[in-house]
Amino acid sequence: MSSSVSEATGAASSKPESPQKPADSADQRSTGLLGNQGPSLSYSQLLQEIEKGEVKDLVLSPARREVQARLRDGGSVAVAVFNNDQLLLRTAEKARVPLSVRDDRSEAMLAGLVANGLLVLLLFAALAVLIRRSAQVANKAMGFGRSQPRIQPEGAPAVRFEDVAGIAEAKEELQEVVTFLKEPERFTTVGARIPKGVLLVGPPGTGKTLLARAIAGEAGVPFFSMAASEFVELFVGVGASRVRDLFRKAKAKAPCIIFIDEIDAVGRQRGAGIGGGNDEREQTLNQLLTEMDGFEPNSGVILLAATNRADVLDAALMRPGRFDRRIHVDLPDRRGREEILSVHARTRPLADTVNLSDWASRTPGFSGADLANLLNEAAILTARREQSQINDQALSDALERITMGLTAAPLQDSAKKRLIAYHEVGHALLTTLEPHADKLDKVTLLPRAGGIGGFARTMPDEEILDSGLISKAYLRARLVVALGGRAAELVVYGPSEVTQGAAGDLEMVTRICREMVTRYGFSSLGPVALEGDHGEVFLGRDWLRQEPHYSRETGNRIDAQVRQLAQNALDQAVRLLRPRRELMDELVERLIVEETIEGDAFRQLVEHFEGSRQPQAVAAGVGAGASA
Ligand code: ADP
Repeated sequence: MSSSVSEATGAASSKPESPQKPADSADQRSTGLLGNQGPSLSYSQLLQEIEKGEVKDLVLSPARREVQARLRDGGSVAVAVFNNDQLLLRTAEKARVPLSVRDDRSEAMLAGLVANGLLVLLLFAALAVLIRRSAQVANKAMGFGRSQPRIQPEGAPAVRFEDVAGIAEAKEELQEVVTFLKEPERFTTVGARIPKGVLLVGPPGTGKTLLARAIAGEAGVPFFSMAASEFVELFVGVGASRVRDLFRKAKAKAPCIIFIDEIDAVGRQRGAGIGGGNDEREQTLNQLLTEMDGFEPNSGVILLAATNRADVLDAALMRPGRFDRRIHVDLPDRRGREEILSVHARTRPLADTVNLSDWASRTPGFSGADLANLLNEAAILTARREQSQINDQALSDALERITMGLTAAPLQDSAKKRLIAYHEVGHALLTTLEPHADKLDKVTLLPRAGGIGGFARTMPDEEILDSGLISKAYLRARLVVALGGRAAELVVYGPSEVTQGAAGDLEMVTRICREMVTRYGFSSLGPVALEGDHGEVFLGRDWLRQEPHYSRETGNRIDAQVRQLAQNALDQAVRLLRPRRELMDELVERLIVEETIEGDAFRQLVEHFEGSRQPQAVAAGVGAGASA
């Protein structure tokens, strides 16, 4: 091999045209000949080699614009040529070197094919990405019909009946459902049909969801929960398909519990409302009815639904075989509230001084959720104050926050502050003076967000709250107390200086007066109910069917009676306040300094004053608590 190299070198270097040094071209040649890669002869060198007869044959590749030269010494070299190179052809012909042309059309075709194939592949990839994207969107759209029930995750701490407090009757009734789920044979062997649906009726936050969860927890079965409003979408038919999907999923996991919250969102009476009702909602309800009929009586799926408006539900939902059980979950009474507080206090460090029974008394009308929130707010305040135990102060501040909202900046303007103080003292004083009124809890001048300058808070009577029975005397007392603010302004500032601050009070007074006249028969119009309950749910229906149940003359008399009741209450309030101007001044001074007076302290002040003026009052014929 080495000899051929030197030979070739000699040949190349002997030519004057060669610009290269002999050593350089030897290098070039050697790589070209040995490795047979790339041209290692220049074009002119190639021509000379051909002329010298050193080249055995030539193979021209027009597409690659290259000629492959086989040398006589056995080497081979590739040289780039011009397009359509006539000189090379002529030189080869002259030297009689055989020249063949490589047909590289197939090669070009292959290259083209590969390039095109790559392009097509690229296009396909782009298309696939696009299709996948749109499929995802479409999937979402198609998935509309699928329900997304929240399923209690496995291993999550199950809610037990002991976590639900203060609603003993409801709990007892539902205990049976647990047995249905756990030991259905006990019922089926004696031919009993296990109820398919249980309706929980009660105000929000009373623990209906909690009860449903507790049933699932006690029975150890899966729990599917969904709000009825989640069924209804913009598109007709989606709700129905979601209902179907939910039941399908549940049946696959039977025995289990399906919980539908706020069932009135779909279960409302059909054909009600302006325009005759909502197609989508009705279809969803129909599907729900069909599904309830469709599942076998003892299939192990029990449907629990919650609502606070059982009166608006469609009758078809309530018939036996659907929701054949109805369980009332009411607001807890004092004992119930104490129990609920204890349940939620289990996980929170309470100071020894905190008496939950007292707090139960101070929270009439609170639901379970409100009580849970109270303890939580108190815990947050405790953490903020960097204390380790929840004390009465934290609970008290939390209660205020929940009932009255956040505190705003204290009032500066003393004239305005004084007026508000008289207004609030008016309410507070009448609460104390009227024997049928609620008990005063506190009166304060600390403003609250939302433009409340101060307030006098009363504590509703537990007995009235529990029994739900309201007497005429109680309502009259409420009217007097409600008008106490306006009366105080009248007494202190005179008729032309009264403010609009009583607007809210007046609204309440008008509502109470109207109900007294038209619903409870508490007026001279006699024992007749002239108006029904104004449930806004059926606004449309009532509006369409609105026809007065009374004559125009009766309407006028109703208005007159309403006005009369309100006027009597205002007169009574003024009558009680006017002779106590001195006491009012004293209370206002104190309120401005202290900003808050607790109910007990307030009553003591009033008692003290009353004691000192008793003989006078009797002489004047104005007794504390005289009713209108
Ligand atoms: P509802 O479904 O009736 O609107 P929830 O069951 O969702 O009310 O109650 C909300 C929260 O309030 C519960 O998670 C629980 O912390 C608390 N709660 C409500 N009622 C009770 C109760 N009776 N006992 C204990 N906690 C209750």
